[in-house]
Amino acid sequence: MSQLVVPTLREDPREAEVVSHKLLLRAGFIRRLAAGIYTYLPLGFRVLNNVSNVVRQEMDKAGAQEVFMPSLLPAELWKETGRWDMYGKELFRIKDRHERDFCLGPTHEEVITDLVRNAIRSYRNLPVNLYQIQTKFRDEIRPRFGLMRGREFMMKDAYSFHTSQEDLEKEYQNMYKTYCSIFERLGLKYRVVEADSGLIGGGFSQEFMVLADTGEEELFVCPKCDYAASRESAGVGEFRVADSQSTGTSKNALKEVHTSGTKTIEEVAAFLKTSPDKTIKTLIYETETGPVVALVRGDHALNEAKLKRVLGVQDLRLASEKVIEKVTKAPLGFSGPVGLKGIKIVADNCVPLIENGITGANKKDHHIMDVSYGRDYKADLIGDIRFALCSDVCPKCKKGKFDVLRGIEVGHIFKLGTKYSEKMKCVYLDENNQEKTMIMGCYGIGIGRTAQAAVEQSFDKDGIVWPMTLAPYKVAIIPVNSSIPEQMEVAEKIYSQGRGAGVAILLDDRELRAGVKLKDIDLIGIPIKVIIGKALKDGKVEIKLRKNGEVKLVPEDRAMDEIKALLA
Ligand SMILES: [Zn+2]
Repeated sequence: MSQLVVPTLREDPREAEVVSHKLLLRAGFIRRLAAGIYTYLPLGFRVLNNVSNVVRQEMDKAGAQEVFMPSLLPAELWKETGRWDMYGKELFRIKDRHERDFCLGPTHEEVITDLVRNAIRSYRNLPVNLYQIQTKFRDEIRPRFGLMRGREFMMKDAYSFHTSQEDLEKEYQNMYKTYCSIFERLGLKYRVVEADSGLIGGGFSQEFMVLADTGEEELFVCPKCDYAASRESAGVGEFRVADSQSTGTSKNALKEVHTSGTKTIEEVAAFLKTSPDKTIKTLIYETETGPVVALVRGDHALNEAKLKRVLGVQDLRLASEKVIEKVTKAPLGFSGPVGLKGIKIVADNCVPLIENGITGANKKDHHIMDVSYGRDYKADLIGDIRFALCSDVCPKCKKGKFDVLRGIEVGHIFKLGTKYSEKMKCVYLDENNQEKTMIMGCYGIGIGRTAQAAVEQSFDKDGIVWPMTLAPYKVAIIPVNSSIPEQMEVAEKIYSQGRGAGVAILLDDRELRAGVKLKDIDLIGIPIKVIIGKALKDGKVEIKLRKNGEVKLVPEDRAMDEIKALLA
């Protein structure tokens, strides 16, 4: 400890928002260089390596092969898949001295597909699963939460290539099991949820979430069956398209009302003495295929990931005021589906069920009442385009109502299909010498993020409580008074026994008060403390566990055996 670079802090650093970030800074594991960019100090790097080692061992055991790809990637490959344009501002783009475009890799589908299309020609060499543990880059608009949302971060990414969907399915299950082993070995409590595939795309995907009350993500979990999904992708089981075909129950004729001064859905509903669930929220989006109108109930939140899927578009953003005026002939805030022509309308499943609805009149300061689906407007598409709520019913069993848990996404597995291989002509020759497109899967784990998620899941008022596998050192030897030769002698002896046995062991030889030393060791989160103090006059030392404070007095010459038993 007297030599280790562990610059602990007494105060909570101002830059940190979440507890795990605060603790990693305070306990001297990481230091910020710039927004979203961190140095791992000796303790932090040991934890990072502990995660990597478990990941590497389990991936190797699963039959995957480790490679190491560059971070600096030529734009040409990204242009082949269209992601050079699609990826937007999160891609770190640079030019070399010859003005050629490059990017710093945020993910490696293009690079690995290029490698495999050149290296593998025959079905005989498939399937393969290649992985790497490497630094990734993402120009986050708001880097935050330390290692959770950085601009430079450590990832394990794996890519598999197959001759059939069944073969991909087999490897996907193999990776699923491998991920379970990894997170179990790391001592983390986790859940697997159905997820949105986002910019990686392809078909089905699942996320591994480390559970933590303060986690950034919400998990929707059905208490009646095994359904679990991220907030982004949780389905709504209550309304099916078939249920919501036209109701047309409004008996009253349409009525236009002046609603001057009301802006929000709540204000409009209050002004018209009704509730937000009677209103139809009308949002106008621009997509690569032109503008669309999306309708959700006033008390619901539109889910853009779902809307993208329902529309089958890649690019979706809220329309500018100019486009809104062009589409509705009215300023922002008064849009409604009634009377709109020549534009695609998408309605959430719940919208056609609204009776005597209220919506914008496509006229400044006006709304219309007693709107009814079928009679007054129609949608081109009806589907699930909103965020699920706790009060919604599970889409799988249609019985349970969601429990909401919180967690941190640490892993994501995807069935990509032919999304990349088709665009990049990644083909092989089958048994009949026919050219076929390879089918792909990809599998990621955030290495630094997993380390921080462990802290978010396991800490107390004194500091970090590392699970054994992750702890930078498993054991700390603490002589209560370093100036007493007998104490130091026993401490040195146990220390050298530990080192000899290959135990990650730390000796706190600093000439500080015992209280200060113990405070630091607890802040750092070392699982086993060997405290050498008063009991030494009876030949005994104290072994204390960080996790639950359990204390045991053991003869000093038995200390190492006791430690080994605890580690086993
Ligand atoms: Zn269910």
